[in-house]
Amino acid sequence: MKHGTTGFGADLVDLRGAVDMHIHSHPCMFPRLTDDFEVAVAARDAGLRAIVLKCHHESTVSRAYYTRTIVPDIEVYGGIVLNSYVGYVNPAAVDAALRFGGKVVWMPTSDAGYHAQIHGSTGNYGTQAGGIENADGYWVLEDGKLKDEVVEVLKLIAEHNAVLATCHLSPAEIVALVERARKEGVEKILITHPFYKVPNLDMATLEHLCKLGAIAEFIYTGVSPFWAAETVDNVANAIRHLGADRCILVSDSGQRHNPVAPEALRLFAQMMLEKGISQDDISLMIRETPAALLDLDKGPAVRSPVEISRLGSKAAPLGDCACS
Ligand SMILES: [Zn+2]
Repeated sequence: MKHGTTGFGADLVDLRGAVDMHIHSHPCMFPRLTDDFEVAVAARDAGLRAIVLKCHHESTVSRAYYTRTIVPDIEVYGGIVLNSYVGYVNPAAVDAALRFGGKVVWMPTSDAGYHAQIHGSTGNYGTQAGGIENADGYWVLEDGKLKDEVVEVLKLIAEHNAVLATCHLSPAEIVALVERARKEGVEKILITHPFYKVPNLDMATLEHLCKLGAIAEFIYTGVSPFWAAETVDNVANAIRHLGADRCILVSDSGQRHNPVAPEALRLFAQMMLEKGISQDDISLMIRETPAALLDLDKGPAVRSPVEISRLGSKAAPLGDCACS
């Protein structure tokens, strides 16, 4: 399948039908370029099929529900980042997020112990500040073993067939987590920005994780001019090395020094194209694989109780909520 050839001299990446699984928007403790609605409209207008909203400070599951209710013609999903604001790796918070239709469970980001070690504190990224700052953060390992609540959360992710994302854990924590996740039946695992400062995985470790079934999530922001934490060549070489079926591209956008998410995703995909990655491989990384991770072909997300009755069995289930 060929996408987006143009008469102006070279191939252009076409965003139609693409999915961005990693977008930051307001409300957030960090300054943001857009709010949830604005970025959903921008993504929809750029032709995207679905987006996932991520917030370091609260669950985005209900925010996504209201956003997709109000913005037509795009699927909007959320998840939960397990930072201090939700009680770190808190099974009750994860259970609620997944039963409300959450798609991604992100391990601690700016509140991870490893993040604090590398950045000097929890709660900020240097230029992105505004969270609660502490010298210590959360570690998933205790005496070399995964904490009980971490294993409980892995079981919940497996039960809901949700996505586990490794975020800012240390390389050793990520390996222990992914190996255990596979044993607990977690099918969908994203290795969040493997080459960013946290975790900054080496290729052998990343390859080991991909062989276990994980997918590497590469971010535009990592190569953006302001952060420049990784290079376009490293990302393109990693895609060639791991195989495009083991990688996805996302924007991770939302900072005021970066383009709005769909444009950041387009730039990133276009850079990969110009580094020799094929259109088919780019399509896999921005369309087919993210769509499979979000189960987009199993039916549209529910927008309202009225819609549930209209769609009937065609609606994607919100989870087996037996509550009244
Ligand atoms: Zn992010």
